[in-house]
Amino acid sequence: MYLILFGAPGVGKGTQAKMISNYFKIPQISTGDMLREAIRNKNDLGKSAQSFMDKGSLVPDDLILKIIKHRILEPDCSRGFILDGFPRTIAQAKSLALLMQEMQLPPFILVDINVSDKDILDRLMGRKTCTKCGADYNKLTRPAPENNICTDCGGTIATRDDDNEETIQNRLRIYGEQTAPVKDFYKKRGTFINIDGNKSVEQVYFLIINELNQLQELQRNR
Ligand code: AMP
Repeated sequence: MYLILFGAPGVGKGTQAKMISNYFKIPQISTGDMLREAIRNKNDLGKSAQSFMDKGSLVPDDLILKIIKHRILEPDCSRGFILDGFPRTIAQAKSLALLMQEMQLPPFILVDINVSDKDILDRLMGRKTCTKCGADYNKLTRPAPENNICTDCGGTIATRDDDNEETIQNRLRIYGEQTAPVKDFYKKRGTFINIDGNKSVEQVYFLIINELNQLQELQRNR
């Protein structure tokens, strides 16, 4: 199964991607997590990406495409994968379509998670993230433990540098201008699933799994 988890920053893509990844046993590929790891490792990619991420701007397409091309060739991607935070521009979507064609892989299923703007801001302002595995904690739905040690992996939980109001506003603006149009690209080419994300993590997860299982059933019976 080849999935794209889509939606504005803070709609819960990362949380859902991890749960879906466990369910279908296919890897989650988060460009944001890969970039944060590169910054922690102080490598060339991290050095190039940091200033863009600090402002909440998009990292240039050529850098992102390089890491995606490399990652999806790894053996764990042979049965499918879940893209989380990519593609974020029409140019990225077009390059990905070419790559998939070259690799003779099937079209993507795009899962579009929608949450109201006000809730997005509340979620992002109250979010803490594991610096090791990327798990998200939130005052409202999953409070971080007092010792700030991740219950999933034992890593350290902290507020992401780009989860401050000014940067969040910029990320949301860029989402509207550059990323949201990517939806239309997939409406014409792949399968498009719309999910109401204004519900609990478990409810959103069941909605997504239900839709995906129905799709698989349909494909089997074709
Ligand atoms: P995320 O963890 O998905 O919220 O991404 C955090 C930041 O990483 C974004 O605000 C961008 O600066 C950068 N980033 C992540 N994915 C991409 C992408 N596909 N294209 C460009 N920049 C990205």
